[in-house]
Amino acid sequence: MGSAPAFASVSEAMDMARAALGYLAAADATQLAAQTQAECLRGLEQTDAISTAARAGFLSAFTAGQGYSADADYSPRAWLIHKTRVSKGAAVAHAAWARRAATHPLVVAALATGELSESYGRTICQWTDKLPEDCRGAADAILLSAAQAGMDLRDLAGLAAEIYERSRPDLPDEDPARAFEDRGVRLETTFGGAGVLTGDLAPECAAVVGTVLDALSAPAGAEDDRTREQRYHDGQADRAEAQLRAGVYARLSETYDAAESVPTQLERGTDHARRRGWAVTATFKDDGFSGFKEITRDGFGELIAAIEAGAVDVVIVRDIDRLTRNLTDWNAFEKACVRHGVRLSAYTGGDLDLSTAEGAYYGGMETLRARRESAVKSARVREAQDREARKGRRVGGGQRWFGYTRIYANPDEPNHKKRHIVREEINPVEADAIRDAAVRILDRGESVASIARDWTARGIKPVAAKQWWPTSIVGTLTSPRLAGLREWQGKKYPTTQWPAILDADTHERLVRLFADPARRKNVVRAPAHLLSRIATCPKCGNGLQYRRHGQINRADSYGCVSGPAGCGGTAIKAELLEEYVTGAVLDALESPRVQEALREGEDHHAPRRAELLAQIRDAQERQEEARRDYSDRVIDRADWLDIRQRTEDAIGAARREYDRLAGSATVMSDIPPSERVRDAWDSWSTDRRRAAIRAVLHRIIIKPLPPGANANVAGNSKNTALRRERELAILRRRVELDWRV
Ligand SMILES: [Zn+2]
Repeated sequence: MGSAPAFASVSEAMDMARAALGYLAAADATQLAAQTQAECLRGLEQTDAISTAARAGFLSAFTAGQGYSADADYSPRAWLIHKTRVSKGAAVAHAAWARRAATHPLVVAALATGELSESYGRTICQWTDKLPEDCRGAADAILLSAAQAGMDLRDLAGLAAEIYERSRPDLPDEDPARAFEDRGVRLETTFGGAGVLTGDLAPECAAVVGTVLDALSAPAGAEDDRTREQRYHDGQADRAEAQLRAGVYARLSETYDAAESVPTQLERGTDHARRRGWAVTATFKDDGFSGFKEITRDGFGELIAAIEAGAVDVVIVRDIDRLTRNLTDWNAFEKACVRHGVRLSAYTGGDLDLSTAEGAYYGGMETLRARRESAVKSARVREAQDREARKGRRVGGGQRWFGYTRIYANPDEPNHKKRHIVREEINPVEADAIRDAAVRILDRGESVASIARDWTARGIKPVAAKQWWPTSIVGTLTSPRLAGLREWQGKKYPTTQWPAILDADTHERLVRLFADPARRKNVVRAPAHLLSRIATCPKCGNGLQYRRHGQINRADSYGCVSGPAGCGGTAIKAELLEEYVTGAVLDALESPRVQEALREGEDHHAPRRAELLAQIRDAQERQEEARRDYSDRVIDRADWLDIRQRTEDAIGAARREYDRLAGSATVMSDIPPSERVRDAWDSWSTDRRRAAIRAVLHRIIIKPLPPGANANVAGNSKNTALRRERELAILRRRVELDWRV
């Protein structure tokens, strides 16, 4: 408060505050007039706000200086609870305000003036906390000025929601001025020469007109007995006599696809002035190249100078956000306009009177949105990349892509960065390895580790790294570019710029396989033992792990590992179990019934999946088209939102069905004929054998030893054949095969 009364010390001020509030608390309110009571209630709300701001200042300083630790408290909150004897809730609220002293300085400053209540201030902070950090201060300023202009909490919430929407850079423009297509004002002349003025005004235009009429038509004094309508009329007459002087401002575009050149902007602005009956007295332009690289803003500076000199009454621009992307510039412009009653008029639609709350925050918001758009990256670069991506074009150089050979125009250039890329050609060896790996993983259930071993053995190396890791194999195999897709901001665009190595269906199935944590675990880190996690403990349901025993007399086993993952209640000798299961699986694989079932189980969902992928692509294309039509104003916002919703629904439904079908693909679509099954088995790796077991068996349940049976069934018998026979007999009673086929 600029006019804060002088106190000798802080403690004297505290004493006075306590004394003043004590006086109010002791006053007999029942004896006071209602008007006085109302005054006190308003005043107390203000003192609450002011004391909140004061406490925030003291507490944030106290926190920064760790003043609380002098009292052996470990946090300002604990200190408040112990030393000021407040509840935890109150301490939390105080600490929140102390933080806001730094994060929302404008709000705290508004509290200190008593012009904003504590609860409004807190609500505004909670809203703007949801915004990107760099937008927060500007959003606070907009909401505060609207609140101080008398906007109630519900309308403030709407405004905050709009700011939130606008702070998200990926939304298509929404210009409320354009949404009001029916706007218009008609002036009809009657027989007597009198005029009839009627019109449909857009809400913001109505607000501006109302404010302007009020300003021009204020009662001329106590004797002025004209009606409001009469004053409005006379005000218009006064206004019409003095023709407004317009200044047109043009700036080079960075973001518009159909950019208007600076001369075109000046020409259209001048036409706009003529239509409105204004005289163009000055033009200002900035042809600087980019809004983000510190360009000189001479034209903008001259414009503000002209406003300050009282040389223009209205500023004409293409779009409100064409003025500036810099909030400091905007504030300077706004101040000058408010001081001199200058109006802002966009020839694409919408006038703005910056002296009204609506005008000021709309203008501020446009600046905020424009700034947000350009914040991270140059919008020109972004748009170019975006357009290229949508067309499926590649950008930039970078590393050679695994699977491709890069063709350079100047391959002998020693500086890599100066080599000009002509195109990517398929590298036959690597492309074959990729296709082979996709089949082995998707259709044969092999693990990524075995692909890595195989590629390493064959001398197929990654592009930059020394060796393959499971994650680099997964990354390579799931890269959209292998399917001829260009990925941009989470979306994939088909391209013909380079040849595809995998078809889209295979790509999607691989992506889904590795995206599913349960399936990924099996594929990426497959256990090295035949029945690990396939053999199951019936007591806890967990898969058994292979256990190696170092002692000579004890055999390796599969066991349930005790701990969070298992009960530790099951164990069985590994060698005999593997032998028994292998025999059973081979018998099954040789049987004509299983052979037929596995062949029938060949991926019969493939045609449907291809259909679904085509549907998804089609819906994406329709959405893309609608987005273009909306940005070209061929369709309106309602149509765009409707099309977006419908295409999203279609994409979602197709994706869900695709996911279901992609997840159910049966492994073992390449089962060898019956007579070759055993030979094939011998040549297979453990991975491949495990995949074959899983193709025919859900799981293998290892039941407890039957009552009366002894694990060491053969005792010390030297007759190995007999011992084996007895062990197998018990094993058969313990092992339950849960067949899939
Ligand atoms: Zn268990």
